[in-house]
Amino acid sequence: MSDNILRSRLYCRNCQIKQLHELVMNQDNQPLKYVETKKKKVKHRHNQDITELDAAKEVSLAASNSIHEEVECLFYDKYVIVKCRGCGETVSFVKMTTNELAIESVEEGKDPYTYKIYPEPPRRKYRLQGKYSFQHVPQWIKELRNEVVRAFEQGAILLSLAGLRMVTEAICKQHIDIISSGIDSNIEPIPNNLSLQKMIDILLDHNIITKPHHVILQKVRVLGNKAVHQFTSQDRDLIHIAIEVLDNLLYNVFDLEQSKLAQNDNFTF
Ligand SMILES: [Zn+2]
Repeated sequence: MSDNILRSRLYCRNCQIKQLHELVMNQDNQPLKYVETKKKKVKHRHNQDITELDAAKEVSLAASNSIHEEVECLFYDKYVIVKCRGCGETVSFVKMTTNELAIESVEEGKDPYTYKIYPEPPRRKYRLQGKYSFQHVPQWIKELRNEVVRAFEQGAILLSLAGLRMVTEAICKQHIDIISSGIDSNIEPIPNNLSLQKMIDILLDHNIITKPHHVILQKVRVLGNKAVHQFTSQDRDLIHIAIEVLDNLLYNVFDLEQSKLAQNDNFTF
């Protein structure tokens, strides 16, 4: 593998999975990196990886009867700018750490470095990718939803709330356009300057959303308004739930009808 590709896969915030990353080069085709070395006195314990020891570990080592020796070891911190090879566009900052003993003793094909990528990956609890593939959600709504998720995963709570309100409005507008295009010319058309509150009501009236979804969308609307106009934040768990509910709604109102099972009349029950 090329020296310009990191050996371990790191989380890409755009792909939302671990991907290979390559070093970003400057105009002279040199990697954008900064290397800092530091010499540390360390304890090297038999049958155990070398570590930078803090005081607590020294005590625990002294308490044990394990054989260990003191060695001098050079530690390296390398700072690099990398680009994801999956999406080919997401640039991140990475701190790579290793030491000379790790480099010397590393097994063939293994990676002697540990990595920390910035912006940091979202905590596993809040990862939202993978549940739905959204085959039939309009691209502009899908991109909007993905931006909300990225903002949320980076801890931008107010932006997430404002974004969730935008996703709600996008769902409403898309469906009201569809409803309007199917309305008989004898019937009064739906005005195009409705409030979001009224638009959500219309979706319920036309059985596009269920009553529980109606209640939640109205709540998302209010929370979004508060975020935008009063800068009122909310608990992160609550927003996580709201995103999951909107994901479920996106799937229900765009993808479900298109699923093979919904369209295939040959099934008998
Ligand atoms: Zn990527």
